Amino acid sequence: MSGPQPKDGVLDMPAYVGGREAVEGVKDPYKLSANENPLGASPKALAALKDLGDPSIYPDGGALALREKLAALNGLDAARIVCGNGSDDILTLLAQAYLGPGDEMVHTAHAFLIYKLASRATGAMPVEVAETDLTAKVDALLAAVTDKTKIVFLANPNNPTGTMLDRDAIARLHAGLPDNVLLVLDGAYAEYVDPAVYPAAFDMVEAHANVVTTRTFSKAYGLAALRLGWGYCPLPVADALNRLRGPFNINVAAMRAGLAALDDQTHIETSRAHNAHWRDWLVQQIGGLGISVRSTQANFILLQFADAAQAARVEAAMGAAGVIPRGLSAYGLSDMLRLSVGTQDANRAALAALENIVKGEGA
Ligand SMILES: *Cc1c(COP(=O)(O)O)cnc(C)c1O
Repeated sequence: MSGPQPKDGVLDMPAYVGGREAVEGVKDPYKLSANENPLGASPKALAALKDLGDPSIYPDGGALALREKLAALNGLDAARIVCGNGSDDILTLLAQAYLGPGDEMVHTAHAFLIYKLASRATGAMPVEVAETDLTAKVDALLAAVTDKTKIVFLANPNNPTGTMLDRDAIARLHAGLPDNVLLVLDGAYAEYVDPAVYPAAFDMVEAHANVVTTRTFSKAYGLAALRLGWGYCPLPVADALNRLRGPFNINVAAMRAGLAALDDQTHIETSRAHNAHWRDWLVQQIGGLGISVRSTQANFILLQFADAAQAARVEAAMGAAGVIPRGLSAYGLSDMLRLSVGTQDANRAALAALENIVKGEGA
């Protein structure tokens, strides 16, 4: 073999495939495959994007204004906040900082794929733990921890299962972990959960040296294109990530739009209410067609079919009708489709498409 070769393991990793965004021959389909906010970004964020200043000047590499605003809004310590180019950036940096060849990373059976990809890239081994009814099991996760384990990644609520552990369960998970194992709680969908019951875990980060939680501007904040996320970390973890991260990993557009978006918490409340209303509507209406449907704690629902072939047929037929769901075979849920909650029009189109499919198939 000649030419440069990637290190061991890199070519064994499947490339990440995102939600489909187009269907051949269908004009302007409703994209309900990537859990984006159907209401878009806050008008304040859009206005901020119109004035980006002088592009010849580097952004603030420390993202200080953003970290201070996040800290003030959430009652946090700005020094423990690390911003990332999407929260994927933070998840990847955590893997790079704490995992290496011979180490193990523990995750649930239907976890967000980035955990496995980011871990494998370091040479570490992902260890998959079975769920009960698509929900993480604390005892099973703890039983999978060995002296090689360095990170436990858990999305809460999880994507694509949409299930969530409560505060007691998270506390029990943490209490059972050795001090040298980092517990990473991915809160990508946190804003969609009622703040009165969401186990935010910021206090756990402050009380323990081995808990990190991440948040993103890609979902409820509607800024996925700009790539902005953050982690709340114990100070030594923040120090490690700040050494590893790109020195200017947050660009000016992301920084300004993010700051303005934080000033519009009404947009988040409106988005949460829209989501809760239409998520319930979709579950009720789609269930009424005789399709097996599960609600979630996040901004999507799950449809379950007899088998992978039927799920694939429905995915194709919905696409042809101008509505794009997310097939879940990459997540080991090939008999299911994930459908993001959309605009009123998109939701009604999804229902109409499914109604026609049910009529046509007699299924
Ligand atoms: C969408 C999502 C993210 C967000 O990724 P970004 O890089 O911030 O866009 C993180 N974790 C989970 C579980 C997600 O579904």
